[in-house]
Amino acid sequence: MQQPHESATGLEDADQRALVRLIFSSTALTLACFSVLQFIAGNLVLSFLEMATAILLGWACQRIRHVQVLTPWLYAYLLPTFSFLIYIIVMPDASPTAFVWIYLIPVLSYLLLGKLRGFLLAMPYLAVAVIAYLLRFPPAADAKGLIDLGNAMLCGLLIMAFVHIYEARRAVAHAQLRRLAHSDALTGVASRDFFQRALERSIEEAKRGGLSLVLVVLDVDDFKQVNDRWGHDAGDQALRHICQRLQQRLRATDLIGRLGGEEFGLLLRETRRDAAAHLVEALRLDLQQSPLHYGEQVIPLSATFGLAEWQADGHSGDELYRRADKRLYQGKALGRNRLVISDCVP
Ligand code: GH3
Ligand code: MG
Ligand code: MG
Repeated sequence: MQQPHESATGLEDADQRALVRLIFSSTALTLACFSVLQFIAGNLVLSFLEMATAILLGWACQRIRHVQVLTPWLYAYLLPTFSFLIYIIVMPDASPTAFVWIYLIPVLSYLLLGKLRGFLLAMPYLAVAVIAYLLRFPPAADAKGLIDLGNAMLCGLLIMAFVHIYEARRAVAHAQLRRLAHSDALTGVASRDFFQRALERSIEEAKRGGLSLVLVVLDVDDFKQVNDRWGHDAGDQALRHICQRLQQRLRATDLIGRLGGEEFGLLLRETRRDAAAHLVEALRLDLQQSPLHYGEQVIPLSATFGLAEWQADGHSGDELYRRADKRLYQGKALGRNRLVISDCVP
């Protein structure tokens, strides 16, 4: 059974793209400024190269909105940028202050690649930068020399440590937020919002890949009576119990979501109506045969299911939901605890 927090949110992806665009555009702006300065200083080749790179980054800024996979773009930016930063500190007529740019290496790599990949990329570049610094400015064996060395090294070490800690905490907080936003607090299954987006995504995938797809909507039978007779806490436990039973039997590619009170949706990918009907019938029997043991009490449970198949019963998520919901209520009218897979003739 797919867990609701496993896939990345649209929000997270949009956030990362916005950050990448900000970094690309500020780098382009910085390079354009340096290009003018190099031009004034008479370094025409460098000035031209910097302006061309600034224009390339401006173009990448636009492309990044639409590309499917972001990672190659990140490395295509970071590797030349870091190599360039090393180059400007080792070239013979480099300004002594060029070293300050090295402090950007851990910041950029952690921001763009996260904790582990950011660390792995930053470390070799930082090691080369330290060696280049020591060769260029051999530390004098007096107090002033040690203070100079301490300024450069400790500042770098602290930046590295702080971005590492910050990124580790941010990643944990982000994962928790994502879990909260994607799952229902009571049952742990997908939230309504996440389920609806998963349904839309699956329809798009089915369109592209010529796949089949089934949506099932289920509603617990006479659930008000469970609350009235055994109490609200028993009702809550019954909902958790039902979700556990469903999750145990669903397949890795299926998704269950809580659509409202005691109504749930099942998204069955790459499944046709007959196979889905078989699976759901097994779920229905399992619920019927697995009452909730609540203290000394045994609480019988059952649910009614309505099924709709993509294309035959509707093309959009809304159409499928309306069809499945209609069948669910036909099932209720027919006496509950059943599965309805096609419109009943009145
Ligand atoms: P039917 O078979 O027609 O679906 O009857 P029903 O009693 O299940 O339907 P009805 O809509 O009358 O009642 C649903 C009940 O579900 C009412 C509501 O208090 C209860 N409910 C909704 N959400 C929760 C919840 O999170 N916890 C508990 N304990 N009860 C809930
Ligand atoms: Mg109900
Ligand atoms: Mg209901």
